[in-house]
Amino acid sequence: MWNAPQKPFRIFGSAYYVGTHGLSSILITSARGHALIDGALPESAPLILANIRALGFRSEDVKLILNSHAHYDHAGGIEALRQATGATVAASRWSARTIEAGKGIPGDPQFSIVLPYPPVPTVRPISDGEVLRAGDVALTAHFTGGHTPGGTTWTWKSCEEQRCLDFVYADSQSPVSADDFLFSRNTTYPNALADFEHSFSVLESLSCDILLTPHPGASNVFERLAARDSGNANAFVDRDACGRLAKENRRQLDARIAREKGAGR
Ligand SMILES: [Zn+2]
Repeated sequence: MWNAPQKPFRIFGSAYYVGTHGLSSILITSARGHALIDGALPESAPLILANIRALGFRSEDVKLILNSHAHYDHAGGIEALRQATGATVAASRWSARTIEAGKGIPGDPQFSIVLPYPPVPTVRPISDGEVLRAGDVALTAHFTGGHTPGGTTWTWKSCEEQRCLDFVYADSQSPVSADDFLFSRNTTYPNALADFEHSFSVLESLSCDILLTPHPGASNVFERLAARDSGNANAFVDRDACGRLAKENRRQLDARIAREKGAGR
């Protein structure tokens, strides 16, 4: 139930979960404007907007919309959110081209199976390491391809009083593809394995107090929320979470490559 409603909540400091129960959308606020990461499905946009308002924020104060990767379950709602907020949409060059097309483009391991979604007329292309600002919010882009060529992980700091924590919104690193695509040998995305390797090392090297992911289950968001509700104030803080996720993703990729090699014999 990807689009099941979810009551929004503060994760820590200026960072809020405003997505659905099955798909993340993260609001990072400041007095002079907010940033939003990911738009979930096309039909998720009204829920995300209602969640932003339920927290007491104005949707018109969202100045910047960012994306993890340009599949319909994370970028599908972006155009409706852009229209409702007037925000600028920014993404890696490959993701920008995909979001402007509103459908899969060659190079996507899921090219032949991804669903289309409402395209965004203009997406500002960004570069690896670029810092994007919305009001006083500053987010750093880390290109972490593999799942798609344009995958991007976002990092920022959120503070409560004197305590500041490093957030990592890590893009999906799962080797999922259409049946006709092999990560270990293909002509449309020859850098796939090198991109995965780069992404795992990025994930391992980032300072990571709080891990979030486009699919909330991959970072145990609701287990952590339940733990916090029952008294563990630091349930979202887990400095090993990024390293564990990288390790799990490496294991998945190794298994996938072994299967591809077996199938080729
Ligand atoms: Zn995806």
